[in-house]
Amino acid sequence: MALKLSFYGGAGKVTGSNFLVEGARGKVLVDCGIEQGADFAVAEVYGPFPYDVTAIDALIITHAHLDHVGRIPKLVKDGFRGKIYMTPPTKDLAELILRDSVNILRQDASRKHLPPLYEEQDVDAAFALIETLDYHVEKEIAPGLSAYLRNTGHILGSASVRITDEEGTTVALTGDLGNSPSPLLPDWEPVRDADALVMESVYGDRLHPPQSERVAKLRDALKRAVARGGTILIPAFSLERTQLMLYELSNFFAAKELPEIPVFLDSPLAIRVTALYEKWGPTYFKPETEDEMKREGSIFEFPFLTQTLSREESMTIEKVPGQKIIIAGAGMSHGGRIGHWETKYLPDPSTTLFMVGYQAPGTPGRRMMEGASHVRLAGNDVAIKAKIEILEGWSAHADRDELLKFAEAALADKRPKVIFTALGEPSAERFLAQRIHDYLGARAVVPDYGQTWEITKDSVKKVREA
Ligand SMILES: [Zn+2]
Repeated sequence: MALKLSFYGGAGKVTGSNFLVEGARGKVLVDCGIEQGADFAVAEVYGPFPYDVTAIDALIITHAHLDHVGRIPKLVKDGFRGKIYMTPPTKDLAELILRDSVNILRQDASRKHLPPLYEEQDVDAAFALIETLDYHVEKEIAPGLSAYLRNTGHILGSASVRITDEEGTTVALTGDLGNSPSPLLPDWEPVRDADALVMESVYGDRLHPPQSERVAKLRDALKRAVARGGTILIPAFSLERTQLMLYELSNFFAAKELPEIPVFLDSPLAIRVTALYEKWGPTYFKPETEDEMKREGSIFEFPFLTQTLSREESMTIEKVPGQKIIIAGAGMSHGGRIGHWETKYLPDPSTTLFMVGYQAPGTPGRRMMEGASHVRLAGNDVAIKAKIEILEGWSAHADRDELLKFAEAALADKRPKVIFTALGEPSAERFLAQRIHDYLGARAVVPDYGQTWEITKDSVKKVREA
């Protein structure tokens, strides 16, 4: 009797999370994400899943980012009829993210002369299968397999998953691990009871500056941008980063550390996500922030913040005279409303563009971060004359030392026989695996796409090559 773990996404790649766990009688998928970035492999996104979709009993989701949920509607369209489990906030967030993605994917597909990956009705069909599973509740989700979720402090509702078979053999997958401590979310919880552990490794080879410095650096960069006099653009990921930015801005304004410049939240998705942060914050944030919300009401709003939900409202922003801050998606400048503002303001040297997150290879954001003088944005060739402020430490991911700390905690009691490093660029996965081996004396493996490993209480071995 053994568990089998197969890597069908997120091996050697940051995005496209998809893992199959098989017991003696049941089969469970963990995450069903989409590969993102300009150079994604079309066959891996559009092609058939590399397993019999109809034979899967359940899908369990770690968190609502598109690279972890983006192919759920396709899975259902392809015949999956099991239940889909996720935390209550993840369910709400995933619905927004998936509905938002329908249009984006349709446009993307038509540019590549492909049919849409899925349509609105496939999202509806997927939502009919969702059942919520809260943190710290053991639940049988497939014949002979139970699941248990723990907080990972990555985004609202994010979880690691532990799957246990009837004999007590366990495999745990982290999903994405947060950059704890966050001002909003609880710290990641250690996983000390896995026979095999799959860890994310986005920042497996990089360090973030200390948390204590990141707020001061944001404040200083904002002051410089205010002094430069032009528009301040913050391409922000709608989920988590935008809410963190609003929270910090609201603190700066309350403390009178910045002049009262109008701030526009110009992203329908980010506006809706922020409303869900308001809804779930009082029960899913860290205790001191929950108290702050119960005391003060909204922690994301301030008097001169305008949310521009409709296209018409958005178009009024440029008529507002004087300096302004515009927060808009997408976070890597690869879509959404930010492209319009970047096209308009980046050729102006008084503009400041803030970069506050991971920029995937091939995205406009990555090219601007690397100092490109011209970038293609929203269909235009745009000269980049603006000041680019790269602010590190705002990532929602643990850095290389935090990841090592997570691995160390995982090894404290019941030592996993192996730690797999996944969901990173290959160099980051290798670097983290090497450090786990060198510093912690543990077996660490960089899995390949398509590999299957067999996990028992005594051993973990590869049983199928890619
Ligand atoms: Zn994530």
